[in-house]
Amino acid sequence: MDLKTIDKKYVLNTYARNYTNFKSGKNATLFDKHNQDYIDFTSGIGVVSVGHGNKQVADAICEQAKNILHISNLYLIEPQALLAKKIVELSGLDAGLFFANSGAEANEGALKIARKYGEVDGEIKRYKIITLKHSFHGRTISTLKATGQESMHNYFGPFPDGFVYANDIEQIESLIDDHTVAVMIELVQGEGGVEPLEKKKVQELAKLLGRKNILLIVDEVQTGVYRTGKFLASNLYDIKPDIVTLAKGLGGGVPIGAVISTKKDVLKTGDHGSTFGGNYLVTRASLEVLNILENEDIKSTTKYFNQKLSTFVKYDFVEKEVGLGLMKGLRIKDSDTLTKLINECFKQRVLVLKAGRNTLRFLPPLTITKEEIDEGFKRVEKAFNTIS
Ligand SMILES: *Cc1c(COP(=O)(O)O)cnc(C)c1O
Repeated sequence: MDLKTIDKKYVLNTYARNYTNFKSGKNATLFDKHNQDYIDFTSGIGVVSVGHGNKQVADAICEQAKNILHISNLYLIEPQALLAKKIVELSGLDAGLFFANSGAEANEGALKIARKYGEVDGEIKRYKIITLKHSFHGRTISTLKATGQESMHNYFGPFPDGFVYANDIEQIESLIDDHTVAVMIELVQGEGGVEPLEKKKVQELAKLLGRKNILLIVDEVQTGVYRTGKFLASNLYDIKPDIVTLAKGLGGGVPIGAVISTKKDVLKTGDHGSTFGGNYLVTRASLEVLNILENEDIKSTTKYFNQKLSTFVKYDFVEKEVGLGLMKGLRIKDSDTLTKLINECFKQRVLVLKAGRNTLRFLPPLTITKEEIDEGFKRVEKAFNTIS
């Protein structure tokens, strides 16, 4: 049996999978089994923030793997403590941190903190959480319900109660009642179409929620870890959320999630936990990722990348450029053209993503070089020229 047949037979069919067999990678370049190179403008959906085959991260992982990989959260884990300190300091928040293993799981942790806060704070039990239409918060039962896209609630019910959807940020205020405990938002909706919220409106929302003692949870699973330029998009928006969640880019490829919570005393011993969360392997790797990114000139990479990207709005099937930092998109006039573009880009050996209904999404590694950017966009241009 060839690998594709094995995969199709034994892996559940939940992904529309491309069967190219990538064998190796170096920064933003991947190689298939014929040693053909591909420019990666996806970084594994915002995960491989320091590129493929990063030696510094690989060395840290190898060294850790030869020693202790896992010991459980019943014991002190040195890199976990150091990573928590580093993340909290970079966030600029007065907060504590819980380690999970994915974005959805980080969001579950945030929802649990909010729910418990709503139970122990004040006279009446508050449990409602407002999220936005077109949001994406994960695939577990409750994060799926938190996700404000009705099409994702077709099966899997009954869901937990208490999720309320606002059409946009302005509508949130009118949906608040005595039972509202939190509002959860992405500052740039990723899966929803690379749609940044307006800074002023977000700041007004943060003030409103502060006055009403309603928690602001910012899902930075995609926007976090320098993706939009600052460590958190919240830093860029100049807000101090009560809770921030991270995952994708945090580990450079190892599965890690984190809940940063300014409500440090809500969860007591035994209220929450994770077997794998924050173990030696992932926290050691993540420490190295942050060491690298702290010293990267992401600002000039972003500028260079976006200068190139802007030139593509000239195509008549491109409506506009969207996004922030290195989380960018081109809004395409219809979804059929978008599908064609993604396929043509792949033929030219450049990897790009879809977001929402009609957005071509770019999430390059934050360490992508100018040469890789040049080469990638040369290929994107060839792909675009086959359509127009
Ligand atoms: C990807 C993503 C998630 C889900 O993360 P998983 O690691 O797949 O569980 C949640 N929220 C946002 C904003 C995301 O982009």
